[in-house]
Amino acid sequence: MEITVAGKKKSYAAPLTVAQLIAAEEIENPLYVTVTINEEFLPAGQIPVKELRDGDNVEFLYFMGGGAFTDEELERYSRHILLKEIGVKGQRKLQNARVLIIGAGGLGAPAALYLAAAGVGVIGVADADTVELSNLQRQVIHSANDLGKPKVLSAKESMEAINPHVRVNACQEYVCAENIAALIRDYDFVLDGTDNFPAKFLINDACVMAQKPFSHAGILRFGGQLMTYVPGAGPCYRCAFKEPPPPDAVPTCREAGVVGAMGGVIGSLQAMEAVKFITGAGKLLTGSLLTFDALTMEFRKVRLPRNPRCAVCGEAPVITKLTDYVQPVCALKR
Ligand SMILES: [Zn+2]
Repeated sequence: MEITVAGKKKSYAAPLTVAQLIAAEEIENPLYVTVTINEEFLPAGQIPVKELRDGDNVEFLYFMGGGAFTDEELERYSRHILLKEIGVKGQRKLQNARVLIIGAGGLGAPAALYLAAAGVGVIGVADADTVELSNLQRQVIHSANDLGKPKVLSAKESMEAINPHVRVNACQEYVCAENIAALIRDYDFVLDGTDNFPAKFLINDACVMAQKPFSHAGILRFGGQLMTYVPGAGPCYRCAFKEPPPPDAVPTCREAGVVGAMGGVIGSLQAMEAVKFITGAGKLLTGSLLTFDALTMEFRKVRLPRNPRCAVCGEAPVITKLTDYVQPVCALKR
């Protein structure tokens, strides 16, 4: 029988199903091709069973413009694609997503690796530091060969080595009141991986003002915590913590230490929240703070209400302009 395929008449032996024609034509990514027969769409479920008739006119339509996955990508992301909560649709959302990671340290390192591996299309990494020996105990994105190198470049190299499909924007600067609005503007989701309170409050305020969802997290010694802010869906970091503690009132990892794997636990959970936000899977940590104590191996989800008197997201916000706290964040040095 004669069938017109993509405008060309060809002879085939009957019977012939559409699936057999796809195989015979060696169509790329056959699972994701749309088929029309005589200018009518064929439901995808019909492809294996639909028999073609003499004189049929068959067209194959492909995803274009960055939407299609190559065979290499299909294999790379196959464990995502298998999940009903992600699938091809979710993977495409990840591919089209833009996530900014502020801080390429203990939290940012595992988060950046997982998000790059997950195929998040554009990942920004902002950090002004260079890699030091004491970082290597937990900042698994950097290696001994990177000592002295800007963290953002070391991070970019590691991420691209894992997944050359992602674009990494390396931004070698500290976030401060002056630059943060422009920095977060082009991203869908922000991940706070910083290690100091002025930066954490600044990120919170900037994200609330820009209505930008973000994941907050902190780690210290054997403990860690995180929460997710989504505009209109729950409290912000400041709802619970009001204002930064006085300088030196609360020790940092630098002063009090932290178990390296704690960054892995909490940073990976931040990456998890980003993936869930992008794909729409499950329920985010909005309205609760997840705390983890590694010594007792206890996770607790603490309900966190919105604070109507919150200075930045409340009913009458008094913080309407970004300012650097206590010590100017831009000038923060180790
Ligand atoms: Zn708030």
